[in-house]
Amino acid sequence: MLKQASTTRVGEFTVGFLDTLVTDTEGLKCFGNRIWVPKLRDLRRKILSEAHKSKYSVHPGTNKMYHDLRQSYWWPGMKKDIAYFVERCVTCLQVKIER
Ligand SMILES: [Zn+2]
Repeated sequence: MLKQASTTRVGEFTVGFLDTLVTDTEGLKCFGNRIWVPKLRDLRRKILSEAHKSKYSVHPGTNKMYHDLRQSYWWPGMKKDIAYFVERCVTCLQVKIER
């Protein structure tokens, strides 16, 4: 039987890496005690959006968001994704201009 490498990849990982993640009782893949957020549809963007826009009237910056999100979530390049998201937030850009 031919083993196709492409079928053993899940998003950005190989299955080998996924095996190092622990599956919790609800079937979520965890990295330590943080939930691995798969690169599916725009799941990560939704989490970033929620973390950035809810709770506070003033939007949190990259470090604050990373600090909060890392308690519960994890994915490779997470901090970079947060920085990318914050840099492009229209509301944050306007605040910067008004200052
Ligand atoms: Zn913002």
